[in-house]
Amino acid sequence: VIEIRDLHKSFGSNEVLRGIDFHVEAGEVVCVIGPSGSGKSTLLRCVNLLEQPSAGTVRVAGAEITDPDVDIDAVRRRIGMVFQSFNLFPHLTALGNVTIAQRKVLRRGKAEADRVAREVLGRVGLADKVGSYPAQLSGGQQQRVAIARALAMGPEVMLFDEPTSALDPELVGDVLGVMRELAEEGMTMLVVTHEMGFAREAADRVVFMDGGVVVEEGPPSQVIADPRHERTRAFLSRVL
Ligand code: ATP
Ligand code: MG
Repeated sequence: VIEIRDLHKSFGSNEVLRGIDFHVEAGEVVCVIGPSGSGKSTLLRCVNLLEQPSAGTVRVAGAEITDPDVDIDAVRRRIGMVFQSFNLFPHLTALGNVTIAQRKVLRRGKAEADRVAREVLGRVGLADKVGSYPAQLSGGQQQRVAIARALAMGPEVMLFDEPTSALDPELVGDVLGVMRELAEEGMTMLVVTHEMGFAREAADRVVFMDGGVVVEEGPPSQVIADPRHERTRAFLSRVL
């Protein structure tokens, strides 16, 4: 579903990604871990062209998104993205937030958009909050609305960039629980996270990045439990 070859990204003279090779297969859950500033967010942002790669190729759902002729809006529609900040519309209810892109981007009718919204809000445990405004919801509930909003578009892959790091500790579990369920249902997911428990239990593969390169990758039983590289060990000893 995602295939990245020799991806480079520089901001001025700062080379943030220095040749990333990387893939995510259908149904796989891949967690990206690594120190602050290692380029994790930049990598995710290159996957849906929120950042333009400096060199290399990125294929998503069969489309070469670095090709200038690609219809990037059509590709983005197949990618769900959940950020650290939820970015909900404050003047819309949970239902409104989950229907607006369905109406405007997918041109679904109101009844159909409402039906899908209620279904996905139910999946994230918010069936009783459809009429609530963001200010009336906890951070964890707002983030689950943001996940529902992405799911409503029927994405082929979901990208998560530290979805729980802005949350109070007691709210993290609900969001991770929803993500675990998605993983179990077979959703293809690329997740940047500092939650090593989630990576250990939910990931098929863990990718450790440092200094703009992939230092090592493999199943969590290897990368987290028995890392090969000194840099991975040093990072894990700080976060575990
Ligand atoms: P964190 O764990 O703190 O979120 P990260 O691994 O996600 O870190 P990135 O956000 O990808 O790291 O940033 C990597 C480097 O790229 C940093 O040095 C950052 O200053 C730089 N950078 C990121 N975005 C931009 C930008 N739009 N313009 C200039 N520099 C940027
Ligand atoms: Mg980041």
